[in-house]
Amino acid sequence: MSSSPLAILHETFGYEQFRGPQQAIVEHVVAGGDALVLMPTGGGKSLCYQIPAIARQLDGHGITIVISPLIALMHDQVGALHEAGVKAAFLNSTLSFAEALDVERRLARGEITLLYAAPERITTPRFLDQLDDLLARGQLSLFAIDEVHCVSQWGHDFRPEYRALTVLHQRYSAVPRIALTATADALTRADIVERLQLEEARHFVSSFDRPNIRYTIVEKKEATQQLLRFIEREHEGDAGVVYCQSRKRVEDVAQTLCEHGINALPYHAGLDAKLRQTHQDRFLREEGIVMVATIAFGMGIDKPDVRFVAHLDMPKNIEGYYQETGRAGRDGQAADAWMVYGLNDVVNQRRMIDESPAGEEFKQVMRGKLDALLGLAEATDCRRVRLLGYFGEPSKPCGNCDNCLQPPPIWDGTEAARKLLSTIYRIQQMSGIGFGTGHIMDILRGKTTEKVTQFGHATLSTFGLGTDYSEQQLRGVLRQLIAIGAVAVQGEYSTLCLTEGSRAVLKGEVPLRLRASATGPAERKPKREKAAAAKSAIAASLDDAAQTRFAALKTWRADVAREHNLPAYVIFHDATLAAIAALAPHSLGDLEGVSGIGVKKLEAYGEQVLRVCQDAA
Ligand code: ADP
Ligand code: ZN
Repeated sequence: MSSSPLAILHETFGYEQFRGPQQAIVEHVVAGGDALVLMPTGGGKSLCYQIPAIARQLDGHGITIVISPLIALMHDQVGALHEAGVKAAFLNSTLSFAEALDVERRLARGEITLLYAAPERITTPRFLDQLDDLLARGQLSLFAIDEVHCVSQWGHDFRPEYRALTVLHQRYSAVPRIALTATADALTRADIVERLQLEEARHFVSSFDRPNIRYTIVEKKEATQQLLRFIEREHEGDAGVVYCQSRKRVEDVAQTLCEHGINALPYHAGLDAKLRQTHQDRFLREEGIVMVATIAFGMGIDKPDVRFVAHLDMPKNIEGYYQETGRAGRDGQAADAWMVYGLNDVVNQRRMIDESPAGEEFKQVMRGKLDALLGLAEATDCRRVRLLGYFGEPSKPCGNCDNCLQPPPIWDGTEAARKLLSTIYRIQQMSGIGFGTGHIMDILRGKTTEKVTQFGHATLSTFGLGTDYSEQQLRGVLRQLIAIGAVAVQGEYSTLCLTEGSRAVLKGEVPLRLRASATGPAERKPKREKAAAAKSAIAASLDDAAQTRFAALKTWRADVAREHNLPAYVIFHDATLAAIAALAPHSLGDLEGVSGIGVKKLEAYGEQVLRVCQDAA
């Protein structure tokens, strides 16, 4: 077999061409260079180290070690490589002692091309001994560090065990390294470089745009009901992920969805590990499951046909939001990133930072990151321009986000903001303590509540000054004020108080432009044509006979996947099955060159696929 990258791409993976910067990365790494790869989810990072691993082994360099934090997914990753005829294995805590021993033997004999291992495994004395041995024999080819943002506390998924990976460049300085991540802002990137001494590595930074994902952020009213409507109208029968902040909420939302006939499963760190794995497996293996989860779920999930990612609570920062929404639409077909967000999200996130035991410097960075996310949520202009801008990438209005599709009407909230601020000020003066958002709004709107009476707040000069504003409008103004730091949230009762930044707003120096209606397009849109929305464009392009073949191929694929204990897309993607169905193949020759069919898969499945197509006729 040829060790040329292009030949490997064709023969092993069955793909016609490299995508984007893949070729440059592969060539650089095959030649022994270090690389730091930043590429969005679905961009095709895996091939960037898998092809060099194969090529370098054919050239006599030995084994590639892949460091991945995703123990629960290693089985499927390795399974996918086996399907393509690549010798791969994993070492992690799910293996029995005997199984681990077997992997170690194969490793020593050079019978493995890629070995996946968790970071905590890499740094054990036993494993280091083995690496030393491979190195001494010139058989340690390459280190691939996946999800490398885990090394940085500025990233959104810090894992302390990643810090120990400094051993790689210290102990094996002659072995090339490729580090990969789907997300890293400038600060995180610099931290990665410093921590892992990747100064000499060439940086490959792809465009972070995911044009097939539509971004929508709507105001939170009754989050679960809004979600239900969104799914029923736009994503009936689709696979999706719903992110919530707390375990309890995950349980509640999953239950509500199930009561409404949606195939939903909960996932959070409080569930028994076995059950969690079962739910993850079902999500990957079955069609149309909605996973309701905390952020404990999702890293490394490479299911290509996730049609939507919904956030019922606001993430901590844009990196987290981008990483999570990036799990939608890896197959390049249309997908939705949909979030509801409200005043409480802002208050809670602020408070969590303020009350965390972290140092002041750390808190300052976290506040800055939260502000950027609030800015995105409050934006009245293109969401994508803001998102990409955050990652340092200039762009033009996209035409595929809520604000582009339906520019929101704007109103000037400056006057309302001044009234809110003076209310906060006067209460503080009069009562000597702060109050929460509800009470402040009640005073401004002239409501004689029990609390108002109790504290005599009806006598304040701002009492009833804001009767023209709806509660929703005032909430919007408060969100903005908190977002720009003109109001601070403090203490156990989330009381509001003025800040350094308040004065400029009070003086009218900071104009506040707000969305007049926060009803997003998702709520107004009529129900999409069911078939067109749920069934991807792939299937829609097939004629009747081809549709029949496509359906038969999917049934066949499900059987094979079950037999191999792997997700269906690891056997063949939908796009590959659709291409086969359209071809109506009669011979193995017909199947050659179909994207996604490499030499091994042709050999293993070619005859069966022909038979399925003929029987379907
Ligand atoms: P990432 O890890 O960057 O999120 P993956 O490596 O999982 O992305 O790749 C995303 C999908 O794109 C996979 O299904 C993969 O098989 C496919 N893919 C990657 N490179 C190519 C290519 N050159 N041609 C066709 N498909 C590709
Ligand atoms: Zn846009």
